[in-house]
Amino acid sequence: MDFRAAKLLIKADCIKIIKGNSVTNSIEHTDIVVIGAGFSGLYAVHRLRKDYAVICVEAGDGVGGTWYWNRYPGARVDIESVEYSYSFDKTLEQEWSWPEYFSAQPDLERYANHVADRFDLRKDIRLSTIVTRMTFDATIDRWNVHTSDGKHIICKYVVAATGSLSAANTPPWPGRETFKGQILHTTEWPREGIDFSGKRVGQIGTGSTGIQAAPIIAREAAHLTIFQRTPAFSMPSGNRPMDAEHEQDWKANYPARRQEMLSNYGVSLMTRPERSAHEYTPEEQRAILEKGWTSKSAFQLMLAFNDVMTDKAANDIVAEFAREKIRGIVKDPVTAELLCPKTYPIGGKRLCNDAGYYEMYNRDNVSLVDVATAPIVAFTEKGLRTADAEYELDIIITATGFDAVTGAMARIAIEGVNGQTLADKWANGPTTHLGFMVAGFPNLFMVHGPMTPGAQAQMITTGEWQVDFIGRIIDDMEQGGLSRIDATVEAEQRWADEVQSVSQFTIHRFADSWYNGKNIDGKKGGFMIYVGGFPRFAELCEEAIQANYEGFLRS
Ligand code: NAP
Repeated sequence: MDFRAAKLLIKADCIKIIKGNSVTNSIEHTDIVVIGAGFSGLYAVHRLRKDYAVICVEAGDGVGGTWYWNRYPGARVDIESVEYSYSFDKTLEQEWSWPEYFSAQPDLERYANHVADRFDLRKDIRLSTIVTRMTFDATIDRWNVHTSDGKHIICKYVVAATGSLSAANTPPWPGRETFKGQILHTTEWPREGIDFSGKRVGQIGTGSTGIQAAPIIAREAAHLTIFQRTPAFSMPSGNRPMDAEHEQDWKANYPARRQEMLSNYGVSLMTRPERSAHEYTPEEQRAILEKGWTSKSAFQLMLAFNDVMTDKAANDIVAEFAREKIRGIVKDPVTAELLCPKTYPIGGKRLCNDAGYYEMYNRDNVSLVDVATAPIVAFTEKGLRTADAEYELDIIITATGFDAVTGAMARIAIEGVNGQTLADKWANGPTTHLGFMVAGFPNLFMVHGPMTPGAQAQMITTGEWQVDFIGRIIDDMEQGGLSRIDATVEAEQRWADEVQSVSQFTIHRFADSWYNGKNIDGKKGGFMIYVGGFPRFAELCEEAIQANYEGFLRS
């Protein structure tokens, strides 16, 4: 029998998987709800809509996810745009042109909008709408999805493309409401921008975001005070206008390059090192590191030697080189020393990329405040108070990052079988099977979920791969006439062991960061990113499916 004709007549035969949405008693029925219209969500709509009815719910009033929300000055991707782009449509690959090597936020948002229009995705996307609550009805194997506009949708599957860096981490200090000026989080930046001219600006946070924003703000503001808790390692981004030859080279070779990306970290064209740092003389090491620093390829420094990420002594050589660069650029020795990271290995937190970040500290209107020794304790009427001083400010920018990986999902009231909520289940850290599913939350799939490679791989390409993988699982369900897929608790444990064990081989374990939730006070759980490499991740996912859906329960 044709698979579509055989589509499920499950326990409640009034609610079948349907090609097309319907409404009964003001409840909408659809096959799949996709949460989020970022890059993965957009592709999920496109891919899944071929066979199923899809409703996509997006909190923003536009598409693009990360590249919709993060419109702070200087927001820019750190992977070449020719790579950081969709692969699913060959014509799209050929027709789109990126003006720069590393695109700025407006170009990425423009691309997301182009894709939404080009593939007519908007008709299935509800903007300015938030999923507030989801409950799984185990009697009919359906999710009840409630949204901020008061709608109730019943669907068979939910695909959460909620993003791993989307839930803002807002600082907890008291007095926020007393501050007479303006407080802005970098991920909730106003579309019309901010006029910094003549303003005393304070910026808290010196991660990838803060490092991109500060040099631009410094050019405009009367004064910029940077409040730094932990200095970051950063290297020059090497951004430049796209040249026609490079673009053509990519366009001529896309199929092979995309293949290469998937057998790598979602990026290609990086020179892979063959030798250990210890096989070189200090002079040779220096020459290789200089080449990496000026390579104009964001992460080439981390690929100077084959043991930078696994051997502390090799890592120390690279870290000291980066510190020397900082000392060479920043004229004031006290400031330079404060900017030198010394408490964790280089690459232990994601390496930042900048355009003039260290040079910015040579300006007269920029000062650095160490809030590791004297922490910020409160917002005040006039600005910020630390343990030893008060700073008068007109605008405070919190570039304080994200409740990463789990935040976006745990903030939705998601109730699985037996009434357990996802937030409760993850109270001591996330558990997943292969990063896609959580035991007790059937028919719910995550893209870039906890314990996937996430930002350790290129998010668009590997997001497409994950959406295709989820699509395959759903297709198998429908072709098999099945109504429920869940993960087992044992499989979650096995995956947790795998995630922890591969993280023990890398120097990531020596750094507190959003990778392990230690950027947020009190957040529990271990390592939330799979650092065993995307190829191994993909292989293990494939193996589980081939082994008759090992670790999954299907009925
Ligand atoms: P982040 O790396 O977590 O940095 C947050 C910053 O805020 C850190 O300097 C942190 O200090 C500081 N902070 C947080 N809470 C604080 C507190 N209570 N007091 C003082 N300082 C505090 O966040 P992010 O910069 O937004 O970057 C997150 C990730 O987004 C990156 O790792 C990257 O994957 C992605 N991203 C990529 C790009 C790009 O492609 N170029 C750009 C931006 C972001 P501590 O280090 O001491 O916690």
